[in-house]
Amino acid sequence: MSETHTATILLTKEDPAPVKLRNMEFSSPYLLVCDHAGRKIPQSLGDMGVPASDWNRHIAWDIGIAEVARHISDFLKAPLVEQAYSRLVIDCNRKPGHRGSIPEVSDGTIIPANKGLSAEERHAREEGIFWPYHQAIEYEADIRGTIILIALHSFTPVYQQQERPWHLGVLHNRNPVFALEFIKQVEQLSDGPWIVGSNEPYILTDENDYTIPRHAEASARPYLELEIRQDLIDAPEGQRLWAARIAEVIEKTRTALSQEPSK
Ligand SMILES: [Zn+2]
Repeated sequence: MSETHTATILLTKEDPAPVKLRNMEFSSPYLLVCDHAGRKIPQSLGDMGVPASDWNRHIAWDIGIAEVARHISDFLKAPLVEQAYSRLVIDCNRKPGHRGSIPEVSDGTIIPANKGLSAEERHAREEGIFWPYHQAIEYEADIRGTIILIALHSFTPVYQQQERPWHLGVLHNRNPVFALEFIKQVEQLSDGPWIVGSNEPYILTDENDYTIPRHAEASARPYLELEIRQDLIDAPEGQRLWAARIAEVIEKTRTALSQEPSK
């Protein structure tokens, strides 16, 4: 019994909490979430057998997005829920059990610590990191009533030798009203042109996403899932600049939708 029990403990008091909160004291029409903000590793997993150079790659986290999310949170005075741990430990935008949830390989890199996990080891990742994060989002969304959920991510400028031209990608599936208005507002900006992809470089699906389907689409809550190209936000200046631009468009989008005559 004691062996089984020990194997299920992932985080100790030496490890940081999985959920990071910011600006929670503000009452805001928005709730910001950042699934891939962090790249912490539980001490019990060491370096997971992954070389140090790979911990700087996009496979470990969404480069630049934590800083952008914090700036947007400060500009809008909106609460932000961030995941502290690397998506190589467990991906918080994949349903538990999905093949990408605890990836054995990520963009060509083998993740030795994720090979052949027992059910208990998977369960420990879910209980220690995945569920506390999603419970925090659910709690904050519920107590705040009518909010717009904003999920922030970043993407690599080149993938499989293909250049990705978009500055921003807006992902949407069910109930795309806020997303489509956001795209319209970007296209109307005078300091453009920004290239904004609609469902680029990814599409939003129940299969490959978790956060928006679970916390927004399931309850018909308005949402924006935004992807930002990493080379624009890999340094402090760009992080602040793009956060300011995005915060402004988010506000314009909300204003435009609130002024539409109801049908
Ligand atoms: Zn991401």
